[in-house]
Order: sequence, then C-alpha cells, then structure tokens
Amino acid sequence: MEKLYDLVICGGGAAGLSAAVYASRSGLDFVLVDTASSMGSQITQTSEIENYPGFENINGMELIMKFYEHAKALKAPMINDEVQKISKQDGVFTVKCAQNEFKTKTVIYCFGATHRTLGVQGEHELLGKGVGYCAVCDGFFFRNKTAVVIGGGNTAVTDAVYLTKICKKVYLIHRRDTLRADKVLSDKLENAENAEILYNTEVSQIIGEQRVEGVELKNGEKIMCDGVFIAVGISPRSELVMDFVKLDKAGYIVADESGKTSVDGFFAAGDVRTKHLRQVITACSDGASCVDSVNRYLS
Ligand code: NAP
Repeated sequence: MEKLYDLVICGGGAAGLSAAVYASRSGLDFVLVDTASSMGSQITQTSEIENYPGFENINGMELIMKFYEHAKALKAPMINDEVQKISKQDGVFTVKCAQNEFKTKTVIYCFGATHRTLGVQGEHELLGKGVGYCAVCDGFFFRNKTAVVIGGGNTAVTDAVYLTKICKKVYLIHRRDTLRADKVLSDKLENAENAEILYNTEVSQIIGEQRVEGVELKNGEKIMCDGVFIAVGISPRSELVMDFVKLDKAGYIVADESGKTSVDGFFAAGDVRTKHLRQVITACSDGASCVDSVNRYLS
C-alpha cells in the first residue's frame, strides 16, 4: 500500500524551513519538497537583514542556511524535486512532483513570491545583459560602474544600499515623492555619498544594443548606466494551485494567521498568502502556526 504522510511541506524558504523545524519536533511524519534552486529563494537574494531579532545584521543566504542546518539537525526529511500538481480526493492529497509522488493528509504550501517585471521596452531584450532583478547575485558585475535601481520599497532600497558599496554611482528611480521602504534603510541610502534618489520619476525604456547603455525617462531625459536592477514588487507563486484553492485578486492564497485556506487540510504560509507584512519573521511565524493548525486538523 502506498505510504500516507501526515504532511507535505511545499517550499523551502523561511516559512517552509520553520514549518519543518516545528513538524519535526511535533513528531509528524512529513517531507519537505523544494527544488534546490529555489530553496530559500527570496531571502537568499537579500544582502542584509537587520530586522530579524537576534541578528543585528545578517546576510540573507547566511540566515537561510542557519534555518536549513536547524531543520537538518532535527532530521527533517527534505527532498529536491519540483512540485507539478496538487490535488485532493477522498480526503487525501496527492502532491505530484517531477520525480516523486506523495500521498498526504495535509499540505503546507509556502512557495513564496517572485519579482514583478516593469514591462518597459528593453527589459526583456537586455535581461542578463545589464538588466537584473537580484543585486546580490549580479551586483559584482558592476564594480566601479554606474547602476540604476528602479522601485521605492524595501527591496529597491536594500539593493541600492548594497550597490553603493560596489558601484561608482547608484541612482534610485522612484515614481512617487516618498520611499515606501523602512526609514532606517531610506536614511542609509540618503546618506550614501555615491547615491542619488530621483523622485517622481519613471523609466520609459531601457536602452542599449548589445548591453545596457542607460535608461530613458518619461520626461525624455536619459541617464547613462551599465546596469539596471528592477525591484518593483513581488507576485505570489500560486499558479500551481490557482484552480484548487481560493486566491484574492492579486493571486495571493486567501488565508489567515492559522494558514487555513478554502480547502480543508491545505494550509498556506509566508509571502504566498494574504497578509499585511511580508517579512522573514512573519514567514517563520506562519510556518510555526501552520504546523499547529496541521496538528489540530489531524487530531
Ligand atoms: P513593495 O514594497 O511592494 O514595493 C514595490 C515598489 O515598486 C513600490 O515603491 C512601488 O511604487 C514600486 N513600483 C511598483 N510598480 C511599479 C512600476 N510599474 N513602475 C515603477 N515603480 C513601481 O515590494 P518590495 O520592495 O519587493 O517588497 C516586497 C515585500 O517584501 C514587502 O512587504 C517588503 O517589506 C518585504 N521585504 C522585506 C525585507 C526585510 O525584511 N529586510 C527586505 C526586502 C523586502 P509605489 O510606492 O508608488 O507603490
């Protein structure tokens, strides 16, 4: 007879690894599934995290590795595979992956969110040729050069601050007159000598033939630069379950603190669910709460 798990955790970011720690300690028979490439994906792209208690300043990759090592020390079973479909029949979920298939009584879905695109000419054409979405991954290529960051949230400002330490000059282009980012981050950028913030400014296209040469603004001006980092928000990675569970208009899985969704036994944790504050700490909290919900559901 096919094995029936108590729980399958889909996703190995902050929410998934926290859920794995709590599930291990609860003695649940579970497995965590993630592709190695996306294990902790968003957080690993963050250069510095300064609001996770216990660490005044820690690199995103370092923090996620600590979560991973913690789960591993508890012997949490973690499998590298790609989840392709989730379905439910007669109270049992089937999590179909590229190489495995799991039957389970419950699922915690925590695939997070991915970057949004700006949708201007040149963005797609020059992707990887100076256009990028991850300053931590690609910032090094612009050492002593000029970079433009587009956006005004925590990601854009964190990226811009990171780049000021590598680049000769960093422009932050924001469409409004105030930044959305936390004050402590905004202050850092405002105080950086090689940073310039352009408020009320929008990019109409990214220019360049073989590589990025600059950006053209909606007012017709051009800013010459070598790299463009786009940080205009995130979209939930919920496509896989869009026909299975209730989503809000923006595509986030409708769920409260407990992680409960429109499908009994299917819980959502982290950035993929409806919530006000998307932070590492709230993702971790979700992972813990969802395991509590799983335990209540199973009993
Ligand atoms: P965000 O907070 O949604 O900010 C997106 C920014 O992009 C906003 O300033 C927005 O402008 C701008 N924008 C959106 N569409 C645009 C367009 N078409 N053209 C120009 N600008 C555009 O997204 P985020 O910065 O990626 O952050 C996502 C979540 O992760 C947030 O909850 C954030 O707090 C969290 N985060 C946390 C940390 C941390 O804890 N250390 C680090 C990074 C991110 P408007 O302001 O005009 O809307």
